[in-house]
Amino acid sequence: MRELLSAAAERAIRYLETLDDRSVVPSRRAVAALAQIDEPLPEGPSDPAAVLAALDDLGSPATMAMAGHRFFGWVIGGSLPATVAANWLAAAWDQNAAGWQSSPPAAAFERLAQRWLLDALGLPSDCAVGFVTGATMANFAGLAAARQTVLKRVGWDVEANGLFGAPPITVIVGDEVHVSVLKALGLLGLGRNRVLRVPVDDQGRMRADRFPDVAGPAILCLQAGNVNTGGVDPLAELCALARRAGAWVHVDGAFGLWAAAAPRRAPLLAGVAEADSWATDAHKWLNVPYDCGLAFVRDARALQAAMAVTAAYLSDAPERKPSDFTPELSRRARGLDVWAALKSLGRAGLAEMIERCCRHAERFAEGLRAAGYEVLNEVVLNQVLVSFGDAATTRRVIEALQVDGTCWCGGTEWQGRTAMRISVSSWATTDADVEKSLAAMLRVAATVRAGQAASVA
Ligand SMILES: *Cc1c(COP(=O)(O)O)cnc(C)c1O
Repeated sequence: MRELLSAAAERAIRYLETLDDRSVVPSRRAVAALAQIDEPLPEGPSDPAAVLAALDDLGSPATMAMAGHRFFGWVIGGSLPATVAANWLAAAWDQNAAGWQSSPPAAAFERLAQRWLLDALGLPSDCAVGFVTGATMANFAGLAAARQTVLKRVGWDVEANGLFGAPPITVIVGDEVHVSVLKALGLLGLGRNRVLRVPVDDQGRMRADRFPDVAGPAILCLQAGNVNTGGVDPLAELCALARRAGAWVHVDGAFGLWAAAAPRRAPLLAGVAEADSWATDAHKWLNVPYDCGLAFVRDARALQAAMAVTAAYLSDAPERKPSDFTPELSRRARGLDVWAALKSLGRAGLAEMIERCCRHAERFAEGLRAAGYEVLNEVVLNQVLVSFGDAATTRRVIEALQVDGTCWCGGTEWQGRTAMRISVSSWATTDADVEKSLAAMLRVAATVRAGQAASVA
């Protein structure tokens, strides 16, 4: 056992130490070599050391270097060293975090992490927090609490009776709603398409002047952090409108909610605490390992009523029962990673990490603009959208940059334009990494454009 686990730690450390010396994207050869894992289910046992070696030898080279310094794809953070360490220890503990009795430390660290999170994000201190797999399930949990409450107000117990014959619920989303919110609505029987879509502005923010008239049970889904622009809905204004209409307000803040922890960015989120439920990811900007999302609900009882296994669990038990707040019953002790992140960073470290990523994004935008390329969004957070010319040219630059391997960015469509999206979300990215990546972007873009000019001539 000792030898095996030490070998695993050795291999993991070597992986992390050498990650930034290789291409961010795995080589085609490494990915092709994954075909070698294919075999029928082994009839007999294998030496665990050989199992580990096979995983490392074939798996490690085929990874995308998300744990490295220069990965800017989607909105994906790395993992803080303290959280990787905590995660390893927790794996060794093998705790079932469903209950207080099953794992006193899982429950205790999670409860403390809950208090710290609400403090850091400026949310009401008596919110319930569900430690779920990601923002998709956090949206699901928050919206389940919403569904429970708006129907209870009109005398319908949805947990007991389901939606057959229930009074209809009006669901309002912005036109730039994240697909995971629609998926959550589908899972909840509220329908992916049965929504009122409110127009958005050029940054993807819901237009308060287009807020519809609503009556009866209603849920308003807002967004803090558009996945392309980083734009945040006008939360204060929309929360006030929703309150007047008697609607529940849910905020998808998968990454953007963390701006509340950074004093210079927090004004973007003014009014966020007026909502009823919030979803965010710890595995994005808090930089903890997968999987870790967080559902916050102001009315703790609403989340508990939607998530607890049976009503009998709805007692005023002295200890918080973790599984009363999550779709899952048995699960890993996610709160440990969150606790380790917040303990290792402190309030100031968290603020600095968020602010640093935003500063890096500003530097990318400045450098690209200075070279004559068009930045399509207002860089308010960690997201930058850049165009290198027409759609085909931009796509060619993205492809060439990915092959170059210095850094990794993906492509996106933004309001009819093709763009490269740079998302700075990792604790590990330094000023030097930004300069090195920016230089690669400019070099690759110049080469692509020169090649095109030559082929035209
Ligand atoms: C990433 C993201 C989600 C989904 O989060 P998962 O952790 O992948 O489930 C939802 N909303 C927004 C705005 C996101 O950026």
